[in-house]
Amino acid sequence: NRIPMVAGNWKMNGDRYLVEQFSKGLKTQQLTCSVVICPPSVYLPLFSGHDFSLGAQNVSHLENGAHTGELSVAMLKEVGSSHVIVGHSERRESQQESSELVAKKAQQAVEHGLVPIICVGEPLDVREQQTVETYIAEQINALTDLLSVEALAQCVIAYEPIWAIGTGKTATPQQAQEVHAFIRRTLNEHAAGLGDGMRLLYGGSVKADNAKELFSQPDVDGGLIGGASLKLEDFIAICQAAN
Ligand code: 13P
Repeated sequence: NRIPMVAGNWKMNGDRYLVEQFSKGLKTQQLTCSVVICPPSVYLPLFSGHDFSLGAQNVSHLENGAHTGELSVAMLKEVGSSHVIVGHSERRESQQESSELVAKKAQQAVEHGLVPIICVGEPLDVREQQTVETYIAEQINALTDLLSVEALAQCVIAYEPIWAIGTGKTATPQQAQEVHAFIRRTLNEHAAGLGDGMRLLYGGSVKADNAKELFSQPDVDGGLIGGASLKLEDFIAICQAAN
């Protein structure tokens, strides 16, 4: 079930023109990986004629109600998304999203039929202090504490070391592999076989010229792409690297 996945996280970038360009120009029939584009949510309904999946970049953990500015899973589904990124480090930092809240969002997504792409990853000081596994384990444990094994099995996890995001400083394929193997092991310890069946993506300065080596690591099942997902040609090249 670990078909490679390449997901593009446009963050707060793009416009109608980019939506049109991707709708027309990103054809996935020749690709063996799943392709997901996560634009700003207001652009989700503007995609048309596309053959790739769409995802949002955030969702509320609540169903509906007086929550100004929030969007529900049902709303995102209604405008065409099948996936949603949760717990991106930019939101964990700027919106103070805790691992517990991220787990609630993932739970809400699975429960109502969106595939969550759950981001985890350590800041530079944690890497320097060599406490990466403890840090990642805490983020993963918040998920295993709340979600059922069946729900977890439907999630995708993206390992995005914060020091590699938007810095041009990619994790080495070995560094990515080590953490991916650790995440898979942790999930397997929680429930036999759970980790073996889940897709684990790497994110952080993935480009057309480093994607192949990263994706060829045994525990790396594709990537979550920021900057390079805004250029159609680069993004297609990265998708091809996942084949
Ligand atoms: P960059 O590919 O721009 O480093 O961003 C990675 C990311 O944060 C994807 O979610």
